[in-house]
Amino acid sequence: MKDLNEYYDVALKFHGHKCPAMPMGLRAGLAAMTALGVERAKDKELVVESETGEGHAAGCFLDGVMVATGATYGKGNIKKLFYNKMAFTLIDVKTGRAVRVSLKPEFFEKALQSPFVQKRKEGVAPQDIPAEITDPQVERVMGLPEAGFLSIGEIFQRDLKKGAPSFEVKRCSRCGEATFTNKLAEVPDGRLLCVPCIEEEKKA
Ligand SMILES: [Zn+2]
Ligand SMILES: [Zn+2]
Repeated sequence: MKDLNEYYDVALKFHGHKCPAMPMGLRAGLAAMTALGVERAKDKELVVESETGEGHAAGCFLDGVMVATGATYGKGNIKKLFYNKMAFTLIDVKTGRAVRVSLKPEFFEKALQSPFVQKRKEGVAPQDIPAEITDPQVERVMGLPEAGFLSIGEIFQRDLKKGAPSFEVKRCSRCGEATFTNKLAEVPDGRLLCVPCIEEEKKA
C-alpha cells in the first residue's frame, strides 16, 4: 500500500465502521514503521506488543495498527498486554530494533470529550452515528501533524526469542481433528489428545 488514503480504505473495510480511533491507530502504526524504517509485514517480520485492552476506542485503535503494520491476530504477531493504555511497541524481529508509540494524554483526553464519544456514551452504535459528526473527526485525525497527537519514543533493543514454526499436523485420537503436533499431548495409554479433549477427559 502506498499512501495514507489507500491504507484508510482497506482499514475501513476491515474495521467495519467509521470512527476517529481507527485512523489514530492507522497513523500511529505508520509512524512507528517510519521510525524503524521498516515495511509492512508480509509474514511475521514485525511484532506488535499492544498495551490496549478491552476499553472503548482501544479495539478500533488496534485495528488501525494491524492494518498499518501487517501484524495480525491470525499470524500471531500481535498481542495485547491489557494495560488499558493507548500505546504499543513495534518490533523489527530481524534486528530487534523497537519503538513505543502512544497517544499524547492531552490529545486522548480531549478526544474522549468529542461529540462522537458523547453519542457512544448515549448507547448509539458507531455505524449509526451521523456522518456530519463522524466525518469531520476522522478528517481531523487524518490531517493532524504527528507531533500533535503521537509520542514516538527512542528506538531501543528488544530481542524476541523465536520458536521454529510448526508445519506438522496429526489427528487427535479422540475427536479426530487435525491439530499441530506442538499442541497435542501424549496421554499414558499412548493416545495423542488435543487441548479441548484433554479438558473433556479430565471432566469425565
Ligand atoms: Zn471503530
Ligand atoms: Zn481432540
